[in-house]
Amino acid sequence: MAIDFQFSQEVEDARLMMREFLQNTVKKEFEILRNRGDASGDDWSVLVKELRSRAKSEGFWLPHMPQDVGGMGLGITAVAAVSAEAAKVPMGPYIINCQAPDEGNMHTLYHFATDYQRETFLKPLLEGTARSCFSMTEPEVAGSDPTLIQTTAVQDGDDWVINGHKWFTSGAKGADFAIVIAKTDPDASVAQARNSAFIVPLDSPGFEIVRDVETMGGKHNHPEVRYNDVRVPKENLLGERGGGHKLGQVRLGPARLAHCMRWLGQIEMALEMLIDRAQKRFAHGSLLSEKQSIQWMMSDSAMELYSSKLMVLHAAYKIENGMEFKQEVSMAKHHVANTLWRVVDRAMQVHGALGYSTDTPLAGMMQQARWARLADGADEVHQMRIAELLMKAYNSDGSINQGVGGLPL
Ligand SMILES: Cc1cc2nc3c(=O)[nH]c(=O)nc-3n(C[C@H](O)[C@H](O)[C@H](O)COP(=O)(O)OP(=O)(O)OC[C@H]3O[C@@H](n4cnc5c(N)ncnc54)[C@H](O)[C@@H]3O)c2cc1C
Repeated sequence: MAIDFQFSQEVEDARLMMREFLQNTVKKEFEILRNRGDASGDDWSVLVKELRSRAKSEGFWLPHMPQDVGGMGLGITAVAAVSAEAAKVPMGPYIINCQAPDEGNMHTLYHFATDYQRETFLKPLLEGTARSCFSMTEPEVAGSDPTLIQTTAVQDGDDWVINGHKWFTSGAKGADFAIVIAKTDPDASVAQARNSAFIVPLDSPGFEIVRDVETMGGKHNHPEVRYNDVRVPKENLLGERGGGHKLGQVRLGPARLAHCMRWLGQIEMALEMLIDRAQKRFAHGSLLSEKQSIQWMMSDSAMELYSSKLMVLHAAYKIENGMEFKQEVSMAKHHVANTLWRVVDRAMQVHGALGYSTDTPLAGMMQQARWARLADGADEVHQMRIAELLMKAYNSDGSINQGVGGLPL
Protein backbone atom coordinates (compact mmCIF):
# COMPACT_ATOMS: atom_id res chain seq x y z
CA MET A 1 0.00 0.00 0.00
CA ALA A 2 1.78 3.14 -1.20
CA ILE A 3 -0.48 5.72 0.43
CA ASP A 4 0.96 6.73 3.76
CA PHE A 5 -0.30 9.74 5.67
CA GLN A 6 2.56 9.72 8.16
CA PHE A 7 5.59 11.93 7.74
CA SER A 8 8.86 10.03 7.82
CA GLN A 9 10.58 10.18 11.22
CA GLU A 10 13.10 12.62 9.75
CA VAL A 11 10.38 15.07 8.64
CA GLU A 12 8.44 14.71 11.88
CA ASP A 13 11.62 15.40 13.86
CA ALA A 14 12.31 18.52 11.78
CA ARG A 15 8.74 19.75 12.31
CA LEU A 16 8.78 19.17 16.04
CA MET A 17 12.20 20.74 16.52
CA MET A 18 11.08 23.78 14.53
CA ARG A 19 7.88 24.03 16.58
CA GLU A 20 9.85 23.81 19.80
CA PHE A 21 12.23 26.58 18.67
CA LEU A 22 9.45 28.87 17.43
CA GLN A 23 7.07 28.37 20.35
CA ASN A 24 9.51 28.07 23.23
CA THR A 25 12.21 30.46 22.13
CA VAL A 26 10.93 32.94 19.54
CA LYS A 27 7.37 33.41 20.82
CA LYS A 28 8.48 33.47 24.46
CA GLU A 29 11.23 36.05 23.86
CA PHE A 30 8.73 38.27 22.00
CA GLU A 31 6.26 37.96 24.87
CA ILE A 32 8.90 38.86 27.46
CA LEU A 33 9.82 42.00 25.53
CA ARG A 34 6.17 42.95 24.91
CA ASN A 35 5.32 42.51 28.59
CA ARG A 36 8.15 44.83 29.56
CA GLY A 37 5.96 47.62 28.19
CA ASP A 38 8.75 50.09 27.46
CA ALA A 39 10.56 48.30 24.61
CA SER A 40 11.80 50.65 21.90
CA GLY A 41 12.06 49.95 18.17
CA ASP A 42 15.78 49.38 18.68
CA ASP A 43 15.09 46.76 21.39
CA TRP A 44 12.85 44.89 18.93
CA SER A 45 15.48 45.08 16.17
CA VAL A 46 18.17 43.74 18.48
CA LEU A 47 15.96 40.84 19.58
CA VAL A 48 14.99 39.94 16.00
CA LYS A 49 18.67 39.99 14.99
CA GLU A 50 19.58 37.77 17.94
CA LEU A 51 16.81 35.28 17.16
CA ARG A 52 17.82 35.11 13.50
CA SER A 53 21.39 34.48 14.53
CA ARG A 54 20.26 31.67 16.87
CA ALA A 55 18.07 30.17 14.13
CA LYS A 56 21.09 30.13 11.84
CA SER A 57 23.55 28.64 14.31
CA GLU A 58 21.06 26.06 15.63
CA GLY A 59 20.05 24.80 12.17
CA PHE A 60 16.59 26.38 11.83
CA TRP A 61 17.60 28.40 8.79
CA LEU A 62 16.40 28.27 5.18
CA PRO A 63 14.03 25.31 5.51
CA HIS A 64 13.10 25.69 1.83
CA MET A 65 16.63 25.54 0.42
CA PRO A 66 18.94 22.62 -0.38
CA GLN A 67 21.91 21.81 1.85
CA ASP A 68 24.49 22.74 -0.79
CA VAL A 69 23.61 26.41 -0.20
CA GLY A 70 23.23 26.20 3.57
CA GLY A 71 19.55 25.21 3.70
CA MET A 72 17.93 22.48 5.76
CA GLY A 73 17.64 20.28 2.65
CA LEU A 74 14.05 19.28 3.35
CA GLY A 75 11.73 17.98 0.65
CA ILE A 76 8.77 20.21 -0.12
CA THR A 77 6.35 18.14 2.00
CA ALA A 78 8.63 18.72 4.99
CA VAL A 79 8.84 22.40 4.05
CA ALA A 80 5.02 22.46 4.17
CA ALA A 81 5.06 21.07 7.70
CA VAL A 82 7.74 23.46 8.89
CA SER A 83 6.24 26.55 7.20
CA ALA A 84 2.84 25.92 8.79
CA GLU A 85 4.59 25.94 12.19
CA ALA A 86 6.46 29.16 11.30
CA ALA A 87 3.23 30.96 10.41
CA LYS A 88 1.83 30.43 13.90
CA VAL A 89 4.43 32.80 15.35
CA PRO A 90 4.60 36.49 14.40
CA MET A 91 7.72 37.04 12.27
CA GLY A 92 8.33 33.27 12.37
CA PRO A 93 9.11 33.01 8.62
CA TYR A 94 11.50 35.98 8.83
CA ILE A 95 13.34 34.56 11.83
CA ILE A 96 14.09 31.35 9.91
CA ASN A 97 14.72 33.26 6.64
CA CYS A 98 11.90 31.87 4.51
CA GLN A 99 9.73 35.01 4.25
CA ALA A 100 8.09 36.20 1.04
CA PRO A 101 9.26 37.50 -1.37
CA ASP A 102 12.86 36.47 -0.58
CA GLU A 103 11.86 32.83 -0.32
CA GLY A 104 10.51 32.80 -3.91
CA ASN A 105 13.44 34.85 -5.16
CA MET A 106 15.97 32.49 -3.58
CA HIS A 107 14.28 29.62 -5.38
CA THR A 108 14.32 31.49 -8.67
CA LEU A 109 17.97 32.44 -8.33
CA TYR A 110 18.93 28.92 -7.28
CA HIS A 111 17.42 27.54 -10.49
CA PHE A 112 18.24 30.29 -13.01
CA ALA A 113 21.22 32.33 -11.77
CA THR A 114 24.67 32.25 -13.35
CA ASP A 115 27.70 31.76 -11.09
CA TYR A 116 28.19 35.54 -10.96
CA GLN A 117 24.54 36.11 -10.02
CA ARG A 118 24.65 33.40 -7.38
CA GLU A 119 27.68 34.91 -5.72
CA THR A 120 26.48 38.51 -5.96
CA PHE A 121 22.75 38.22 -5.32
CA LEU A 122 21.78 34.79 -4.00
CA LYS A 123 24.53 34.45 -1.40
CA PRO A 124 23.60 37.55 0.66
CA LEU A 125 19.95 36.45 0.68
CA LEU A 126 20.95 33.04 1.96
CA GLU A 127 23.11 34.62 4.62
CA GLY A 128 20.25 36.91 5.64
CA THR A 129 22.30 40.05 5.03
CA ALA A 130 20.27 41.32 2.07
CA ARG A 131 16.61 41.59 1.09
CA SER A 132 14.99 41.46 -2.32
CA CYS A 133 11.71 42.07 -4.10
CA PHE A 134 9.83 40.91 -7.18
CA SER A 135 8.61 43.60 -9.55
CA MET A 136 6.06 42.45 -12.09
CA THR A 137 2.63 44.05 -11.51
CA GLU A 138 1.86 47.41 -13.16
CA PRO A 139 -0.96 49.80 -12.32
CA GLU A 140 -1.90 50.45 -15.97
CA VAL A 141 -2.49 46.84 -17.08
CA ALA A 142 -4.08 43.75 -15.56
CA GLY A 143 -1.52 41.99 -13.39
CA SER A 144 -3.44 38.78 -14.01
CA ASP A 145 -2.18 38.78 -17.59
CA PRO A 146 1.62 39.29 -17.65
CA THR A 147 1.65 39.30 -21.47
CA LEU A 148 0.31 42.88 -21.17
CA ILE A 149 3.37 44.16 -19.27
CA GLN A 150 4.46 47.59 -20.59
CA THR A 151 7.83 47.98 -18.86
CA THR A 152 10.52 47.70 -21.52
CA ALA A 153 14.16 46.65 -21.50
CA VAL A 154 16.18 47.67 -24.55
CA GLN A 155 19.71 46.52 -25.27
CA ASP A 156 22.30 49.29 -25.54
CA GLY A 157 25.83 47.95 -26.05
CA ASP A 158 26.65 45.75 -23.08
CA ASP A 159 23.78 47.14 -21.03
CA TRP A 160 20.03 46.81 -20.84
CA VAL A 161 18.06 50.01 -20.28
CA ILE A 162 14.83 49.56 -18.34
CA ASN A 163 11.86 51.92 -18.33
CA GLY A 164 8.57 51.28 -16.63
CA HIS A 165 6.08 51.78 -13.86
CA LYS A 166 5.25 49.07 -11.32
CA TRP A 167 3.40 48.83 -8.07
CA PHE A 168 2.98 46.35 -5.24
CA THR A 169 6.69 45.63 -5.51
CA SER A 170 6.47 44.21 -1.99
CA GLY A 171 9.45 44.85 0.21
CA ALA A 172 11.11 47.30 -2.22
CA LYS A 173 11.82 49.80 0.55
CA GLY A 174 15.00 48.51 2.12
CA ALA A 175 15.59 45.81 -0.49
CA ASP A 176 18.97 45.49 -2.15
CA PHE A 177 17.72 44.34 -5.51
CA ALA A 178 14.59 43.54 -7.49
CA ILE A 179 13.84 40.82 -9.97
CA VAL A 180 12.08 42.86 -12.67
CA ILE A 181 9.95 41.47 -15.48
CA ALA A 182 10.20 43.63 -18.61
CA LYS A 183 9.32 43.37 -22.28
CA THR A 184 12.39 42.68 -24.43
CA ASP A 185 10.89 41.06 -27.51
CA PRO A 186 7.58 42.76 -28.35
CA ASP A 187 7.47 41.12 -31.78
CA ALA A 188 7.91 37.51 -30.64
CA SER A 189 5.10 35.51 -32.19
CA VAL A 190 4.29 33.79 -28.89
CA ALA A 191 3.07 36.37 -26.37
CA GLN A 192 4.63 34.35 -23.52
CA ALA A 193 8.11 34.78 -25.09
CA ARG A 194 8.10 38.60 -25.04
CA ASN A 195 9.24 39.23 -21.47
CA SER A 196 12.58 38.69 -19.75
CA ALA A 197 13.72 38.88 -16.13
CA PHE A 198 16.46 41.17 -14.86
CA ILE A 199 18.22 41.59 -11.56
CA VAL A 200 18.21 45.31 -10.76
CA PRO A 201 20.24 46.64 -7.80
CA LEU A 202 17.98 49.22 -6.20
CA ASP A 203 20.76 51.76 -5.77
CA SER A 204 20.89 52.03 -9.59
CA PRO A 205 20.44 55.59 -10.89
CA GLY A 206 16.90 56.04 -12.22
CA PHE A 207 15.20 53.69 -9.76
CA GLU A 208 12.55 55.63 -7.88
CA ILE A 209 10.18 54.72 -5.07
CA VAL A 210 7.13 56.89 -5.77
CA ARG A 211 5.21 56.00 -2.59
CA ASP A 212 4.37 53.17 -0.25
CA VAL A 213 0.87 52.20 -1.40
CA GLU A 214 -1.38 52.28 1.63
CA THR A 215 -3.59 49.19 1.81
CA MET A 216 -6.53 48.24 4.03
CA GLY A 217 -3.87 46.85 6.35
CA GLY A 218 -1.95 50.14 6.44
CA LYS A 219 1.49 50.76 5.01
CA HIS A 220 3.25 47.45 4.67
CA ASN A 221 5.96 48.21 2.14
CA HIS A 222 4.10 47.54 -1.11
CA PRO A 223 5.61 50.45 -3.07
CA GLU A 224 4.76 52.02 -6.38
CA VAL A 225 8.08 52.34 -8.22
CA ARG A 226 9.46 53.72 -11.48
CA TYR A 227 12.37 52.57 -13.58
CA ASN A 228 13.63 55.67 -15.42
CA ASP A 229 16.37 54.66 -17.87
CA VAL A 230 17.77 52.22 -15.33
CA ARG A 231 20.89 50.60 -16.74
CA VAL A 232 22.00 47.10 -15.83
CA PRO A 233 24.88 45.14 -17.39
CA LYS A 234 24.00 42.21 -19.64
CA GLU A 235 25.22 39.88 -16.87
CA ASN A 236 22.04 40.84 -14.98
CA LEU A 237 19.68 39.16 -17.42
CA LEU A 238 18.22 36.32 -15.32
CA GLY A 239 17.51 33.15 -17.27
CA GLU A 240 17.23 33.29 -21.01
CA ARG A 241 16.05 36.23 -23.09
CA GLY A 242 12.31 35.88 -23.61
CA GLY A 243 12.17 33.48 -20.66
CA GLY A 244 10.49 35.90 -18.21
CA HIS A 245 7.11 34.22 -18.40
CA LYS A 246 8.58 30.76 -17.88
CA LEU A 247 10.65 32.01 -14.96
CA GLY A 248 7.54 33.59 -13.41
CA GLN A 249 5.69 30.30 -13.70
CA VAL A 250 8.56 28.29 -12.19
CA ARG A 251 8.75 30.83 -9.38
CA LEU A 252 5.05 31.04 -8.75
CA GLY A 253 4.29 27.31 -8.52
CA PRO A 254 6.26 26.55 -5.35
CA ALA A 255 5.88 30.16 -4.10
CA ARG A 256 2.07 29.86 -4.26
CA LEU A 257 2.26 26.62 -2.35
CA ALA A 258 4.57 28.26 0.19
CA HIS A 259 1.86 30.89 0.77
CA CYS A 260 -0.65 28.07 1.29
CA MET A 261 1.65 26.45 3.82
CA ARG A 262 1.85 29.67 5.84
CA TRP A 263 -1.93 30.15 5.53
CA LEU A 264 -2.53 26.67 6.98
CA GLY A 265 -0.81 27.83 10.17
CA GLN A 266 -3.01 30.94 10.23
CA ILE A 267 -6.21 28.94 9.66
CA GLU A 268 -5.30 26.57 12.48
CA MET A 269 -4.58 29.49 14.78
CA ALA A 270 -7.93 31.16 13.94
CA LEU A 271 -9.87 27.94 14.51
CA GLU A 272 -8.15 27.34 17.84
CA MET A 273 -9.05 30.89 18.89
CA LEU A 274 -12.67 30.30 17.82
CA ILE A 275 -12.91 27.11 19.89
CA ASP A 276 -11.22 28.66 22.88
CA ARG A 277 -13.49 31.70 22.94
CA ALA A 278 -16.66 29.65 22.31
CA GLN A 279 -15.87 27.46 25.31
CA LYS A 280 -15.45 30.46 27.62
CA ARG A 281 -18.19 32.87 26.52
CA PHE A 282 -21.62 32.47 28.11
CA ALA A 283 -24.83 33.92 26.62
CA HIS A 284 -28.55 33.08 26.63
CA GLY A 285 -28.28 30.23 29.10
CA SER A 286 -25.29 28.32 27.73
CA LEU A 287 -21.74 28.59 26.50
CA LEU A 288 -21.38 29.60 22.84
CA SER A 289 -19.72 26.22 22.24
CA GLU A 290 -22.99 24.49 23.16
CA LYS A 291 -24.98 26.29 20.47
CA GLN A 292 -25.49 24.41 17.23
CA SER A 293 -24.89 27.44 15.00
CA ILE A 294 -21.45 27.89 16.58
CA GLN A 295 -20.71 24.15 16.36
CA TRP A 296 -21.46 24.33 12.64
CA MET A 297 -18.86 27.07 12.31
CA MET A 298 -16.39 24.76 14.03
CA SER A 299 -17.24 21.73 11.92
CA ASP A 300 -17.31 23.62 8.61
CA SER A 301 -13.93 25.12 9.48
CA ALA A 302 -12.54 21.73 10.48
CA MET A 303 -13.63 20.14 7.18
CA GLU A 304 -12.25 23.01 5.15
CA LEU A 305 -8.95 22.96 7.03
CA TYR A 306 -8.69 19.19 6.63
CA SER A 307 -9.27 19.37 2.86
CA SER A 308 -6.82 22.30 2.66
CA LYS A 309 -4.11 20.26 4.34
CA LEU A 310 -4.70 17.28 2.05
CA MET A 311 -4.56 19.50 -1.03
CA VAL A 312 -1.34 21.18 0.06
CA LEU A 313 0.31 17.88 0.92
CA HIS A 314 -0.76 16.30 -2.35
CA ALA A 315 0.51 19.25 -4.42
CA ALA A 316 3.77 19.15 -2.47
CA TYR A 317 4.03 15.40 -3.06
CA LYS A 318 3.64 15.97 -6.80
CA ILE A 319 6.35 18.65 -6.87
CA GLU A 320 8.68 16.49 -4.78
CA ASN A 321 8.25 13.53 -7.12
CA GLY A 322 8.80 15.53 -10.31
CA MET A 323 5.18 15.13 -11.43
CA GLU A 324 3.03 17.74 -13.20
CA PHE A 325 1.67 19.96 -10.42
CA LYS A 326 0.00 23.01 -12.00
CA GLN A 327 -3.58 21.88 -11.48
CA GLU A 328 -3.01 20.78 -7.89
CA VAL A 329 -1.24 24.03 -6.96
CA SER A 330 -4.04 26.11 -8.54
CA MET A 331 -6.72 24.16 -6.69
CA ALA A 332 -4.81 24.33 -3.41
CA LYS A 333 -4.13 28.07 -3.77
CA HIS A 334 -7.79 28.85 -4.43
CA HIS A 335 -9.16 26.54 -1.74
CA VAL A 336 -6.71 27.47 1.03
CA ALA A 337 -7.03 31.22 0.38
CA ASN A 338 -10.82 31.00 0.61
CA THR A 339 -10.67 28.76 3.67
CA LEU A 340 -8.40 31.28 5.36
CA TRP A 341 -10.86 34.07 4.63
CA ARG A 342 -13.88 32.10 5.90
CA VAL A 343 -12.26 30.70 9.05
CA VAL A 344 -10.80 34.04 10.14
CA ASP A 345 -14.22 35.61 9.51
CA ARG A 346 -15.95 32.97 11.67
CA ALA A 347 -13.40 33.36 14.45
CA MET A 348 -13.97 37.12 14.36
CA GLN A 349 -17.74 36.60 14.52
CA VAL A 350 -17.46 34.38 17.61
CA HIS A 351 -15.21 36.94 19.31
CA GLY A 352 -17.78 39.73 18.76
CA ALA A 353 -16.43 43.23 19.40
CA LEU A 354 -13.20 41.74 20.74
CA GLY A 355 -12.61 40.12 17.34
CA TYR A 356 -13.10 43.43 15.57
CA SER A 357 -10.71 45.16 17.96
CA THR A 358 -6.97 44.97 17.58
CA ASP A 359 -6.66 43.32 21.02
CA THR A 360 -6.43 39.94 19.26
CA PRO A 361 -4.46 39.10 16.09
CA LEU A 362 -7.71 38.41 14.18
CA ALA A 363 -8.16 41.90 12.69
CA GLY A 364 -4.63 41.80 11.25
CA MET A 365 -5.15 38.24 10.03
CA MET A 366 -8.32 39.28 8.20
CA GLN A 367 -6.54 42.10 6.40
CA GLN A 368 -3.91 39.65 5.21
CA ALA A 369 -6.52 37.02 4.34
CA ARG A 370 -8.31 39.32 1.91
CA TRP A 371 -5.36 39.73 -0.42
CA ALA A 372 -4.81 35.98 -0.45
CA ARG A 373 -7.81 35.69 -2.80
CA LEU A 374 -6.50 38.16 -5.39
CA ALA A 375 -2.69 38.10 -5.35
CA ASP A 376 -0.52 35.35 -6.86
CA GLY A 377 -3.39 34.48 -9.18
CA ALA A 378 -6.87 35.83 -8.45
CA ASP A 379 -9.57 33.29 -7.60
CA GLU A 380 -11.19 33.59 -11.03
CA VAL A 381 -7.89 33.14 -12.90
CA HIS A 382 -7.18 29.92 -11.02
CA GLN A 383 -10.74 28.79 -11.70
CA MET A 384 -10.25 29.52 -15.39
CA ARG A 385 -6.98 27.53 -15.50
CA ILE A 386 -8.51 24.66 -13.51
CA ALA A 387 -11.41 24.43 -15.96
CA GLU A 388 -9.02 24.58 -18.95
CA LEU A 389 -6.88 21.73 -17.62
CA LEU A 390 -9.96 19.76 -16.69
CA MET A 391 -11.30 19.98 -20.25
CA LYS A 392 -7.85 19.16 -21.64
CA ALA A 393 -7.68 16.01 -19.51
CA TYR A 394 -11.18 14.96 -20.54
CA ASN A 395 -10.60 15.64 -24.23
CA SER A 396 -7.28 13.81 -24.37
CA ASP A 397 -7.97 10.87 -22.02
CA GLY A 398 -11.77 10.63 -22.13
CA SER A 399 -11.56 11.01 -18.34
CA ILE A 400 -11.29 13.95 -15.96
CA ASN A 401 -9.00 12.00 -13.62
CA GLN A 402 -5.79 13.90 -14.46
CA GLY A 403 -7.66 17.17 -13.91
CA VAL A 404 -8.69 16.26 -10.38
CA GLY A 405 -5.36 15.24 -8.92
CA GLY A 406 -4.75 12.03 -10.90
CA LEU A 407 -5.59 10.01 -7.79
CA PRO A 408 -6.00 6.22 -8.00
CA LEU A 409 -9.72 6.45 -7.21
C1 LIG B 1 -0.53 42.37 -0.63
C2 LIG B 1 -0.09 42.22 -2.05
C3 LIG B 1 1.23 41.96 -2.35
C4 LIG B 1 1.65 41.87 -3.68
N1 LIG B 1 2.99 41.67 -3.94
C5 LIG B 1 3.42 41.71 -5.23
C6 LIG B 1 4.82 41.62 -5.52
O1 LIG B 1 5.66 41.51 -4.61
N2 LIG B 1 5.22 41.75 -6.80
C7 LIG B 1 4.33 41.92 -7.83
O2 LIG B 1 4.76 42.00 -8.98
N3 LIG B 1 2.98 41.96 -7.59
C8 LIG B 1 2.51 41.88 -6.32
N4 LIG B 1 1.17 41.99 -6.05
C9 LIG B 1 0.23 42.18 -7.14
C10 LIG B 1 -0.57 40.93 -7.45
O3 LIG B 1 0.25 39.93 -7.96
C11 LIG B 1 -1.70 41.38 -8.39
O4 LIG B 1 -2.60 42.13 -7.62
C12 LIG B 1 -2.40 40.23 -9.06
O5 LIG B 1 -1.57 39.62 -10.02
C13 LIG B 1 -3.68 40.73 -9.78
O6 LIG B 1 -3.38 41.76 -10.67
P1 LIG B 1 -4.19 43.15 -10.59
O7 LIG B 1 -4.17 43.64 -9.20
O8 LIG B 1 -3.67 44.02 -11.65
O9 LIG B 1 -5.69 42.76 -10.88
P2 LIG B 1 -6.35 42.53 -12.31
O10 LIG B 1 -5.48 41.66 -13.15
O11 LIG B 1 -6.78 43.82 -12.84
O12 LIG B 1 -7.60 41.67 -11.88
C14 LIG B 1 -8.66 42.24 -11.11
C15 LIG B 1 -9.75 41.21 -10.96
O13 LIG B 1 -10.25 40.87 -12.24
C16 LIG B 1 -10.73 39.56 -12.23
N5 LIG B 1 -10.10 38.82 -13.33
C17 LIG B 1 -8.85 38.96 -13.83
N6 LIG B 1 -8.64 38.09 -14.84
C18 LIG B 1 -9.78 37.38 -14.96
C19 LIG B 1 -10.22 36.34 -15.83
N7 LIG B 1 -9.41 35.83 -16.75
N8 LIG B 1 -11.48 35.84 -15.65
C20 LIG B 1 -12.31 36.35 -14.70
N9 LIG B 1 -11.95 37.34 -13.87
C21 LIG B 1 -10.72 37.85 -14.00
C22 LIG B 1 -10.40 38.97 -10.86
O14 LIG B 1 -11.52 39.07 -10.02
C23 LIG B 1 -9.31 39.87 -10.35
O15 LIG B 1 -9.23 39.92 -8.94
C24 LIG B 1 0.72 42.04 -4.72
C25 LIG B 1 -0.62 42.30 -4.41
C26 LIG B 1 -1.03 42.39 -3.11
C27 LIG B 1 -2.47 42.71 -2.83
